[in-house]
Amino acid sequence: MPQLGITRRHLLAAMAGAGLAGTLPLRAQSQARSAGDAMNPARRKDSIGVALVGLGGYATHQLAPGLQLAQHCHLAGIVTGSPQKIPAWQARHGIPDRNVYSYDDFDRIADNPDIQAVYIATPNDLHMPLTLRAASAGKHVWCEKPMAMDAAEAQAMVDACRANKVQLTIGYRLQHEPNTRRLMAMAREKPYGKILKVRADAGFNAYDDVDPANKPWRLLPQHGGGAMYDMGVYSLNAARYTSGQEPVAVTARQEIRRPALFEGVDETMHFTLEFPDGTVAECATSFGQDMNILRADCERGWYELSPFQTYDGLKGRTSDGKVFADAVPHQQARQMDDDALAILQGTAPLVPGEEGVRDMRVVDAVYASARDGGRRIVL
Ligand code: NDP
Repeated sequence: MPQLGITRRHLLAAMAGAGLAGTLPLRAQSQARSAGDAMNPARRKDSIGVALVGLGGYATHQLAPGLQLAQHCHLAGIVTGSPQKIPAWQARHGIPDRNVYSYDDFDRIADNPDIQAVYIATPNDLHMPLTLRAASAGKHVWCEKPMAMDAAEAQAMVDACRANKVQLTIGYRLQHEPNTRRLMAMAREKPYGKILKVRADAGFNAYDDVDPANKPWRLLPQHGGGAMYDMGVYSLNAARYTSGQEPVAVTARQEIRRPALFEGVDETMHFTLEFPDGTVAECATSFGQDMNILRADCERGWYELSPFQTYDGLKGRTSDGKVFADAVPHQQARQMDDDALAILQGTAPLVPGEEGVRDMRVVDAVYASARDGGRRIVL
């Protein structure tokens, strides 16, 4: 089966987004269900239909299983540029023909009452154009991290969703996770006194077997490749929720060990965030080193989560010997249930688009600083 080329896919998404943004009315939510509705016996009557956009690794191995476990949302449709994937997805999830879209005809989703929200899990450069199209179609948008390529794109996504009266949430699954939420509470309550220093390192060692002539999108600048966009947003987001503050300045430095693979994208990024009260966060991210620790050093002790960004097994420790490791059955199911309830109840989502915009402002400053090593004010 033919697959759209990288450039064509992007162009189609961008062009359609530009042409349609803001032109279609908000569609009413519907309680209609897909044929896959009966698959989860725990699913409640108040469940919204979700279309997954981009049937790659994350959609296949985390989001679709999460939707099977969720109680307030279910997999109702798919959007894909790979026709060969469609039969297996339809069979596995009971998705009817009318709920299957390509990137070309995705805008028809406006007329589909089975689908109330779309979950965008494509390469990063497509997050903005697909969000604009979904918002124009009157669908709520759940978008993966990093939210966009830069803060201007991210703000355009927030504005489009607001104009179309749909919710926009970013897939920061950890902010729904109980051990992470404990750290967020500690940032407010300060049980060990003032937080003096945060450390947040997230990365993995991969891509040794990649042919430089045939790189995956995560190593290509035009798709938003590089460690900072991918794993660095975990470090950054964690530094913000662990300190409980917004950074005012950034200094960054990048390292490239495998130049043939990392042309125009970062392999390892070290970045320091300065917070208004003098707290500093030392952060790192990498596609060439394993790292997975989040730590706060305070006036009267310390605490840490390590690992802090895996799909399960997060483990917390404190300087006075406490250990915490609350289990959550499925992070993504919890995240999507939280987001579905916000839609159903008309309340603010836990992780709105604005949260992604804040990260993208810092990402912009990190990349700017990494170019010359200079300190950058976060705008
Ligand atoms: P994959 O490469 O595995 O899948 C991406 C999918 O996007 C492809 O399978 C394809 O689906 C679609 N796609 C559309 N256009 C292109 C293109 N030009 N090139 C390649 N694929 C294209 O990526 P992941 O699933 O790992 O990541 C997707 C998104 O999810 C990223 O933004 C990533 O940062 C995020 N993510 C978040 C995680 C989290 O924990 N929150 C974890 C992992 C990823 P199709 O063939 O159906 O069109």
